[in-house]
Amino acid sequence: MNGPRDWPAGGPRRRGAIRRTLPAALAFAIILGGLAYLGGDLQALIGTAPGSPRSAAATHRLYEESGPVDGRCDTLPPDPDADVGRTLRALSRCLDRMWAATLAEADLDYARPGEVRLVDRPREAACGTDDHGWAGIYCPEGRVVNVLVEEGRAFPMMFTLAHEYAHHVQEISGIADRRGSEVFDEAWSRRLELQADCLAAAALRTVGPILLREQRRWLARGGEEADGRQAESRESHGSGASSAAWMLRGQKEGTVRACNTWSAPADQVS
Ligand SMILES: [Zn+2]
Repeated sequence: MNGPRDWPAGGPRRRGAIRRTLPAALAFAIILGGLAYLGGDLQALIGTAPGSPRSAAATHRLYEESGPVDGRCDTLPPDPDADVGRTLRALSRCLDRMWAATLAEADLDYARPGEVRLVDRPREAACGTDDHGWAGIYCPEGRVVNVLVEEGRAFPMMFTLAHEYAHHVQEISGIADRRGSEVFDEAWSRRLELQADCLAAAALRTVGPILLREQRRWLARGGEEADGRQAESRESHGSGASSAAWMLRGQKEGTVRACNTWSAPADQVS
């Protein structure tokens, strides 16, 4: 299974997913058709529809039992832009510490990613696909975090690293568990991705508050759409405005609880 692919926070998104997702989309269509046949309220009745406050992802004990993520990272180099690889490796160790402490508050064991792979080319990723348009990708099999390292300022890549780490936390905590009876469609993907944006902002709120704010404002202004953000990535990751709104929550509150996209109404995860 390929993991969530994520595009650059500050760059154009490229096409590529339709061909690979079409069979899955057809399967979803068949499932949705079956649900419609059985009755549209079936999901709501069994309480596992994404957006149901009773779903397993929405009622995970991490929301209630953990406090603010400790966002400090004192070991970052003084100039994060000088050697981006060094910066990302330092941030990775801080993210391990932050998430281990947060999960421990809820009596959950933290396991570091199997590997944090900083790659120059997408094909070097652990679960690389023939779609090479991403800035980061998390491979649930092997639990590998991949971040594409390119020229430029460190912060967009730091955000990508924090976002992929959030996918790792979703995976090991069971929030991203796909074995339930939910429909794992684009709406499910948007809740997963917007939660990862929120958790990334919570983790980076002390390290880069001003850069986070700049990134939020650019997203809220429709920067990605103006930059050619593809409709398909909006379908799977949510709009720039939704992303900015969830990042603001994560940055302000700093908690996993503030990032419960799974219980949010549909218009907040569009
Ligand atoms: Zn993602």
